[in-house]
Parts: sequence; C-alpha cells; structure tokens
Amino acid sequence: MTSSILIAGGGSAGWITANVLAASFERAGGLAPQITLIEAPDIPIIGVGEATVPSIRRTLQHIGISEREFMRACDATFKTLIRFDDWSPGISFDHPFDRRERPATDMAVEDWLRHGQDAPSFDGTFSVLSRIAAFNLAPKAVGWPDYGSPFPYAYHLDAVKLARALTGIGLKRGIRHVLGRITDVNVAASGSIESVELEDKTIHSADLFVDCTGFAARLVGQALGIEKTSFSKQLLCDRAVTLQIPFETYRPERIKTYTQATARSSGWQWDINLQTRRGVGYVYSSSFQTSDQAERELRAAEGPPADDLEARHIAFESHKRKVSWQGNCVAVGLADGFLEPLESSGLYMIEYAAQALADLLPHAGPNLRIAANRFNANMTSLYAEVLEYVNLHYMTSTRRDTAFWRAATDQSAIVDSLRDKLPLWRTKRPSELDFDGPLRLFSIESYEYLLFGMGHTVRAASGVSAQRPDLSGAVAKCKERLPNHEEWLSKLA
Ligand SMILES: Cc1cc2nc3c(=O)[nH]c(=O)nc-3n(C[C@H](O)[C@H](O)[C@H](O)COP(=O)(O)OP(=O)(O)OC[C@H]3O[C@@H](n4cnc5c(N)ncnc54)[C@H](O)[C@@H]3O)c2cc1C
Repeated sequence: MTSSILIAGGGSAGWITANVLAASFERAGGLAPQITLIEAPDIPIIGVGEATVPSIRRTLQHIGISEREFMRACDATFKTLIRFDDWSPGISFDHPFDRRERPATDMAVEDWLRHGQDAPSFDGTFSVLSRIAAFNLAPKAVGWPDYGSPFPYAYHLDAVKLARALTGIGLKRGIRHVLGRITDVNVAASGSIESVELEDKTIHSADLFVDCTGFAARLVGQALGIEKTSFSKQLLCDRAVTLQIPFETYRPERIKTYTQATARSSGWQWDINLQTRRGVGYVYSSSFQTSDQAERELRAAEGPPADDLEARHIAFESHKRKVSWQGNCVAVGLADGFLEPLESSGLYMIEYAAQALADLLPHAGPNLRIAANRFNANMTSLYAEVLEYVNLHYMTSTRRDTAFWRAATDQSAIVDSLRDKLPLWRTKRPSELDFDGPLRLFSIESYEYLLFGMGHTVRAASGVSAQRPDLSGAVAKCKERLPNHEEWLSKLA
C-alpha cells in the first residue's frame, strides 16, 4: 500500500492530480495515503492552458467544486466548439462537441458527401451547437443542475486562477502544502527516489513521487534522466507569443462560446474569451519566424487595443517522455510531455493521468511495476491519438502560401499512423475500422468534422438522396430556452 505521495509542482497538473487523488481516496474510505504538494514560490506556473474539453466537468465535479463557484473563481466562460478559420484558403469550419446521432444519420452523411458539400456546411448540417453559436447562446439555462445539460460543453478559464482555486480546495481536503524549491533529488541505487531536498535543507520522503514540475521535469528529467521522444518533425510549432486584452481596453461585440483558431503565416492564433478579458496567442515555428516577427504579426492582427500591452513569449517542444512512470516516480502534465495547444489536449491529459492513478494506486501495493506498465501503455496510446489528430489538421490543409505551410503540410511531416489512412479518407468516411484501439479523447465524429470541414473527403455524386436531419426544430427550441451567454454569466455574481 502506498502510504505517502509527494507531488512536486503546483500548476494545473499538480493541483488537479492532488485533488483528484484526495477526492478518490476520501470516497473509497479507509486509510488514505498522506498527500504532500511542494511548489517553488519563485517559479511561476506556465499560466496558459485556457481552453478545455468536456471531461473537465466530470473532473471538477469529482473534485467537489460547484460549477458557479468554479466559474466565478476562474473568470470562466462556456466553450462549445473550436472554429477553424483559413486553415485552407477561404475555408471556415467548426469542431463542435456535440456528436451526430448514430447510426440514424449515417445515410444523411453519405448524402451530404455525395450530393453537395456546398451550403450548408457539414457542421451546420449535423451539429446543433455549431448552428446556435451564431446566436451566442449558453449551452444551459440558469438553474439547470451543476455541470448538467443535454449538450456536451467545456469552459475557457484563467489558468492561474484555476491553480489558486484548486489550492484552496486541496488545503481544505487536508493536502499538506509546502512552499520551497527542490534543489536535490536523492535516488537510491535501485533507481527509486528516496527523498527530495529543498533550498532550506529540509528533506521530504514518500513512497510515490509525482513530478508535476512542468517543462523543468525536475524529477523524471533532471534526476532520473528519462529520455524524451521528440515530435518536432511532425508538429513544427515550438513557440507562442501571447497577449491578454482586458475588456477595459477593448470589449468585443460578444463573449464568444467558442475558441477561434485562425491560421497565420507561420502557425495559427487562438482567441479565447473570458468574462473580463480576451486571451490571444500566436503559436508559430521558430524555424520560420523570429519572436519579433511573430509578435508584430500578432499585434497587427489585434490592432490598436493591443498597442500598450506587454506580450509574453513561451518556448515549447513537442515531445513525450519515453515512459511516464518509472520505479516510484510518475510524471504528469508538462513534465511528461506536450504536443501543441491545438485542440486543447493539455489539461485533458492531466485529467486522464490523475484518474488513471486514482484507479491504479489502491491496488498497486506490491504490484507497482504492473500498475506502471498499465499507466505507461495508456499514456503512450493517448499521446499517439492526439499526435495523429493534431497532425491531421496540417496534413489536410491546402495552404502552401508560406515556407511554414509548405513544410508543415509536406509528406515528410506526416505521422506514420496517417500514412495509409489519409489516402483512404480521400473517399472513405472514417470509422472504427481505421483505428487499432479505442479512441480516448476524440471520436469518429471529431475526425468527420475535420476531414469534411477541410474538404479532404470527396465523393462523386451518385446514388439515391437521403433525408438530411432537420435541425431547425432543435435550434428553435434552443433559442426559446437557452439564455444569451453574457446574460448567463451576469447571473453568476
Ligand atoms: C503555449 C501553450 C498553450 C497551451 N494551451 C492550452 C490550452 O488551451 N488547453 C489546455 O488544456 N492546455 C494548454 N496548454 C498546456 C497547459 O498549459 C499545461 O498542460 C498545464 O498548464 C499544466 O502545466 P503544469 O502544471 O504541468 O506545469 P506548470 O504550470 O509549469 O507548473 C510547474 C510547477 O512546478 C513548480 N516547480 C518547478 N520546478 C520546481 C522545483 N525545482 N521545485 C519545486 N517546484 C518546482 C513550479 O513552481 C510550478 O508550480 C498549453 C501549453 C502551452 C505551452
């Protein structure tokens, strides 16, 4: 039995993991391991990671924070889809969270492919969330149960405020919080970590160590030397320049219920609306643009409201540790790896890892190695899935207007798992047959929205027409029952 767990790092990874574990142990009853979280007060958290996916609702509910308290504390707004602009010339499409009904609408999908991939678009034909985005409706009415709605939805949030809110909950749960920088990691001859030493020379030991120290990877990287697999050949972006534009400086017409991802000359830009500010960030490749050029491009896109605001530059590498869990040390979050901000997978990976630990740890005992093997196999599959899906955005793009887009869309950048699928998907719809195992984060529908939205899958017109779904009734009902996004947010106070 693991009786003490030491979590190094107090960003989203550290606090989500600590809270998910503590909540799980509490629910299971019995003797729970003591959880200690150590964070360096002089090393700030990365502070990006503002767009989430629907699983975050389950995680927050599990942790035990009410939806309204969470939204108030984290400046949060609703997110129902991602809108992609200019990823291929003149193209705009959505990746919404709602899935079309299957198999009832399968023939309708065939019909859409065979008889007119013109107006309305695939997302507009099959997704209610995509249709109602134009009316800026919240995905739920005021007074509906916490985290509940017939629609899947997620949030945009302030990452720094999330870490703070989770700290408060963790402390109430009895998680020991130590402020201090880890300066030494004591590793036994067996390869197990025995303890960590802080700047003030205090020594902290535990049965299990969770490395959540971000890109520093103080335990798994610096102390244990676990190597990384780089994906920089497949995902070329390795920098971001970000701005926070407060509403006092510039208030957009509306607080959007979607993340906007707009292609730029050497990458793409996110636009995320919170309750009090916009967060924008240009993700680009340093092989094709300098940081000054990228900042200029972002400022040009934002115009005068951004003039006096300070930009922040972040470097990252698309990679994953060869193993996430070795001996008695597990890496979660950026310490384990990171792919791309595209499709908001970072926090999901943390949620997934924390849940997996909560599931495995009570049974690990003398079988720690078996638990580690299961954990590693699952994290490797999850990374492979996200890598494939993110790479697909570039591989289906027809942009060739800059050196970056020519390189990012070149066959030399394709992930191996897509090599055969991409030609197949020229005419074939994606299906479970195309995947070796179950999809964890994405779905067949996610692949459809992307492949059809980009215009990659094309069929010759043939066969009998089938009825396409009529979403007008559902859209009318939403307009009648769902409040405007701003109106919903104004009732949070
Ligand atoms: C540009 C960019 C955009 C992103 N956008 C998204 C997004 O939209 N959606 C999404 O889901 N994810 C996104 N991510 C990923 C997301 O930001 C991270 O997954 C998330 O913030 C988790 O970070 P972390 O907790 O692993 O690391 P950090 O936030 O960096 O926290 C590291 C912690 O470790 C501590 N620490 C470091 N060294 C030591 C030491 N020696 N001793 C003690 N403590 C130490 C620090 O004090 C800090 O508390 C993005 C990432 C990047 C780079």
